[in-house]
Parts: sequence; C-alpha cells; structure tokens
Amino acid sequence: MELQIRRLSKRYANGVQALDDVSLTIPVGMYGLLGPNGAGKSTLMRTLATLQEPDAGSIALGGIDVVRDKDAVRRTLGYLPQEFGVYPRVTALALLDHFAVLKGIVHAGERRDAVEALLRQVNLWEVRRQKLGGFSGGMRQRFGVAVALLGDPRLLIVDEPTAGLDPAERVRFLNLLAALGERSVVLLSTHIVEDVSELCTRMAIIAKGRIRLEGEPLSAVAALRGRVWRAVVGRDALPALERSHAVLATTLLGGRTVAHVHAASRPGPEFESVEPDLKDVYFAAMGGHLDGEAAPAPATAA
Ligand code: ADP
Repeated sequence: MELQIRRLSKRYANGVQALDDVSLTIPVGMYGLLGPNGAGKSTLMRTLATLQEPDAGSIALGGIDVVRDKDAVRRTLGYLPQEFGVYPRVTALALLDHFAVLKGIVHAGERRDAVEALLRQVNLWEVRRQKLGGFSGGMRQRFGVAVALLGDPRLLIVDEPTAGLDPAERVRFLNLLAALGERSVVLLSTHIVEDVSELCTRMAIIAKGRIRLEGEPLSAVAALRGRVWRAVVGRDALPALERSHAVLATTLLGGRTVAHVHAASRPGPEFESVEPDLKDVYFAAMGGHLDGEAAPAPATAA
C-alpha cells in the first residue's frame, strides 16, 4: 500500500495558493511533512483525509481514488487533526466506545476487545475510567491516536501532534507513532525539525505550497557534508555576510551570534567546518540553496 499524490493544487477563495503542483510518493512507514506555518501542510492533510477538494491533481491510496471514492478512503483512514476536541466529562473508556460505534463496530464483544486493545496500545488502560477533562495534553493526544486507530487504518494522518507536549510526553507520543509506522502509512505534519529527524525514514519539506525537497533525512544531511561552515560573527557584520553568502541560520550561543553558512569551500579564515544536521537541510531548502550539485538526489521516480 502506497500513497501517491500527483500534481495536486489548491487555491482558496481569498487568492492564497495553498498547494501548488504537489507530487509525492509515500510508502509504508513514518513520513514527515516539514514546513513553516502557512506552508500548506494542513491543506494537504485535510485533502488527503477527504475533508476538502483539490482544484486539480489526483491522489491514490493503493487502488483507491481518494478524491472520487471518499467512502472507501474513510473506511481505511485514521485522522488526528491539529485541534482535537474531547468531551471533558466523559471517561476515556466511554468516549472511545462511542466512537467505535460510530465507526461501525456494532458487535458489543468485538467492540469491547477493540477498545481495550487500543487503550492498552496508547498506554491509557490504567486511566480508562478517568474523565478526559483531567487528562494532560500528551494523554489527550494519545487518546486521539486511539480514536484515529479504530477500524485498523492503513493510512494514519497526524497534523502537528507534538505542539504543546512536554519533552517526556513528546517522546512517549513519538514512540507510539514509530510503532504504528511499521505496518501502515503514517504521515506526520510538523514544523519541528527534530520530530522528523528522530522518527521519519522519509520526508518532504514544503513551503508556500511547493515541495522544496523530498527524500531520506539521512541522505539529505549527508549531501550537505563538507558544505556547512560556522563562525561567530558580530551583530554588525551579519547583514554583509548575508549579502555575500548563503547564511542558513543564526543561533545565539552564550550571547554571541553563530552563523551557519552553506558554501562549497571555506568562506573565510574565521569559519570552521561543521557536521550538518537536518536543521541545516531545512534552512538550505527553505532558502533555495539546494539547487545544483549540493541537492540530494530525488529519492523516488514519479
Ligand atoms: P500549514 O498547515 O502549513 O500552517 P495551511 O494549509 O493551514 O498551512 O495554510 C496554507 C495557506 O492557506 C496559508 O496562507 C493560510 O492562511 C491559507 N488558508 C488555509 N485555510 C484557508 C481557508 N479556509 N481559506 C483561506 N485561506 C486559507
């Protein structure tokens, strides 16, 4: 089972081109869709989840035409939206059972087994009789995953799931997703580079509705090796450096500005070579610095 997105475009009534000729092939496993706010991630997720129509393009999930045959997709799709509301006065057990009925699991015994298995899988079995209003952000997200997993979906879509989670909850949540990625297509949209570098075997970087880079995080990082340089720069010197070089990002270290520069050779004596990471890839892709020989090879044939 593979998700194939071909030449997908969407322009909203206000003139915003949210998706501009997007093509991606997404195999079984954890796939990261990385981009800044406003890049078009949610638009793509909602379109894949059959909640809105594209203007042009096609989407196939295995043999299913996602745009035309919405019912077939919905039977095999789990979707965890960015904003996930719960009924605060209801227990986790009761609400999951309710959603299971809505999903069509009408046989009581079968439903009891499915609900128990899911609550155990997301590690909420011990708290199943607590009201959702008392759950932490991470517990709510894991409950959302249990809902999304009802009916054993082959495609799971998770939109910005780690925003607002504390570090321990985030790790627990990402581990849960990683286990799911072993047999389903799990598409994770995020603006957090670490979510992708820690978890995803493949990824795409999207900005202004266009795919800037598609491939494996590890090979994208490897392709930048020997081309990222670092120097401490005075704040006054930064504008000149930005004019003359491809500055990927600046960070503060002990109150001083450290600039990462993308260049084929050492930009100056004050620069030292650094081991690139996915953040460098991200900023290079966003800045359009990956065109030409430094760009990682495209990973899949269209
Ligand atoms: P992301 O999820 O990456 O933050 P979105 O898909 O939410 O991006 O938004 C992409 C662009 O489309 C943004 O410029 C956003 O303001 C715009 N947009 C999103 N939804 C709508 C809508 N319903 N009507 C008009 N513009 C929208």
